Amino acid sequence: AVDTSVCSEGRVLRVQGLVSMVQFADGNVRQCATRRLLKTLSTDQRHVVAAGDRVWVRPSGADEGIIERVEPRKGVLSRNSRGRQHVLVTNVDQLLIVTSAAQPRLKPNLLDRYLVTAERAQIEPVICINKVDLIDRGELQPLIGVYSQLGYRVLQVSATEGWGMTEFRSILKGRSSVLTGQSGVGKSSLLNIIDPELALRVQQVSAESEKGKHTTTTSELIPLSMGGFVIDTPGIRQFRLWDVVPEEVAGFFRDLRPYVSHCRYPDCTHTHEEPCAVKDAVAEGAIDFRRYESYLQIHAGDDA
Ligand code: GDP
Ligand code: ZN
Repeated sequence: AVDTSVCSEGRVLRVQGLVSMVQFADGNVRQCATRRLLKTLSTDQRHVVAAGDRVWVRPSGADEGIIERVEPRKGVLSRNSRGRQHVLVTNVDQLLIVTSAAQPRLKPNLLDRYLVTAERAQIEPVICINKVDLIDRGELQPLIGVYSQLGYRVLQVSATEGWGMTEFRSILKGRSSVLTGQSGVGKSSLLNIIDPELALRVQQVSAESEKGKHTTTTSELIPLSMGGFVIDTPGIRQFRLWDVVPEEVAGFFRDLRPYVSHCRYPDCTHTHEEPCAVKDAVAEGAIDFRRYESYLQIHAGDDA
């Protein structure tokens, strides 16, 4: 048990080898080592403590400490590497999927892949469509309708015009958000409005990881001045996080999921089988055809 009279609870901002940077409620950061006991309990020593973990620390010296306990995790993003699950970051509240209405054009199929990633990790996704200043507002309505009906939150913003920034800010406040989306959609521009220092820090982390200074699994929680964290996860950008097994894919499509159990064949892939409850629902218009096409592509393991 942890002695709470001497230990304090903190949040791991990042892990470098066996050293973790932990931030506490007062804003202070301590460089912490993990107790041997904790390490040996795990099968994968290097990942006992991960970025995002809530930990109990026994202070040692002015700005150091020892991690005594790791709280149970939820909202874990991991990546499969050579048959092993590598934890990228833990205790993620939401996956903020940033897309742009134009330049680059919105790719619904890519959006569906990010959604599969979120569903698989059981992390709430939020769809953020930036650059809406470049299009007619009506253009996006059918697409937004499809996602809203599935229960996904969809924000329409413009970083250059400052549209939707109050809502964007309220979504980030007090939460741990992984920001994802292809380059050029305006992630840095959006962060810059929230907090210029934060945008700079994210850029630095990205540059370092591209130069190979960080290991492939190094994620970093960047504190927001208004409370909450933006999580920069190099793994999200560089890897096919959606490397799900084909049989699982339908279960991660909110619109396909209710029909799957009604298929005649228990191992139905919803591709060529006759009859198939999913295909019937597509034919009747109960499932959006484009979403079904996304399913087929992801199921087949094709690139976006
Ligand atoms: P990132 O790669 O996702 O971080 O994208 P950036 O923030 O670097 O933005 C890429 C380009 O899109 C830059 O030239 C921005 O000025 C531009 N941009 C960002 N947001 C908007 C927007 O809301 N509207 C328009 N028209 N351009 C934007
Ligand atoms: Zn089927």
